[in-house]
Amino acid sequence: LVSRMQGFDTTIFATMSELAAKRGAINLGQGFPDFDGPEPIRDVAVAAIREGRNQYPPARGILRLRKAISYHQELFYGLKYDPESEVLVTAGATEAIAASLLALIEPGDEVLVFEPFYDSYQAAITMAQGVVVPVPLDQPSWSFDADHLKSLVTDRTKAVLINTPHNPTGKVFTEHELGILADLCVRNNLIAITDEVYEHLVFEGAHIPLATFPGMRDRTITISSAAKTFSLTGWKIGWICATQQLLDAVLTTKQFLTYVNGGPFQEGIAFGLENGTTFTSQISQTLKPQRDVLIETLRKTGLAVCDTAGTYFVVTDISALESYDATLFCMELPNKAGVVAIPMEVFYKDRGRGRTLVRWAFCKSPATMATAVERLLALE
Ligand code: PMP
Ligand code: GLN
Repeated sequence: LVSRMQGFDTTIFATMSELAAKRGAINLGQGFPDFDGPEPIRDVAVAAIREGRNQYPPARGILRLRKAISYHQELFYGLKYDPESEVLVTAGATEAIAASLLALIEPGDEVLVFEPFYDSYQAAITMAQGVVVPVPLDQPSWSFDADHLKSLVTDRTKAVLINTPHNPTGKVFTEHELGILADLCVRNNLIAITDEVYEHLVFEGAHIPLATFPGMRDRTITISSAAKTFSLTGWKIGWICATQQLLDAVLTTKQFLTYVNGGPFQEGIAFGLENGTTFTSQISQTLKPQRDVLIETLRKTGLAVCDTAGTYFVVTDISALESYDATLFCMELPNKAGVVAIPMEVFYKDRGRGRTLVRWAFCKSPATMATAVERLLALE
């Protein structure tokens, strides 16, 4: 393994899901639903397979899906993208993020990333030989210090990478915060890469794409995915909206990573997006009660629970506990309670900063959540 990738062990999600399976524990670790996405969407993919649409789709994705993505951006956010030249289908948001960084980052370029951050960001920036510059988000609001943010910009800063709604904290960035960030990008000529995979998983407030701010559309690579919106994480259909110039750059790297993926699944996701709010509005309604149940339960167990306005996740701070090392806590939890959660230190560049934080997922069926609640309440 090349030296710059040493220290990136097996992802925490794979490790904890394996542990959950081994111990027969309820998996509130890795963020994936234990129920399937809407049947009509799945039916379209099945039909596409049966009808013989099983060969390579076009390099940018099937036109039907690119048109549906363009329609979605305009319907929800008033953003216009040309399906022919400004929309690209990718192998999930993960590939979209990696391909964007590989296309735009020169060795030594700095990327501002809000910390804690989704684990693939640090790995992808490192693969691109860039430098991760963390912008700390602090409890309880997980907001950032605007002056500190400004002070982090150097002549090597190339891009900011922002995820809203935010994994792992569940924060939904406000209009005010996004305005500060937009201003920073415009003033310093930075590219913004936005990860909006939880755009339809908002319980309080509203999701605002950074590309809607003045001067931002043409410098923003907007990334999303069908995984969370349609509860179809295994399909790995993601996408990018950006100007032709930015998108052509990303296509250059993307075509040599996977080239294309998931032809029949692209048909299904196109159908889902073509239907406006019919399917996109379902998931937040389904999960809001699960979030509330989990928060109430964790509070009852005596843990300090942070607010969460979106995503699949809620964060607890265990610093009040006797054993306040979150990794240890999470390794013992399957034995003690039959539940798996995620220790958050891997979401920090300086891992110590996440040492007392634990992330819990509530993207589970009411039956699964009820069992998890029972087990957690029995915890000593
Ligand atoms: N970004 C964030 C913030 C995530 O939580 C995830 C996990 N779904 C991804 C990207 C990856 O998305 P995909 O499965 O579409 O690659
Ligand atoms: N996004 C999911 C999470 O944060 C995990 C996806 C993955 O395992 N790569 O839990």
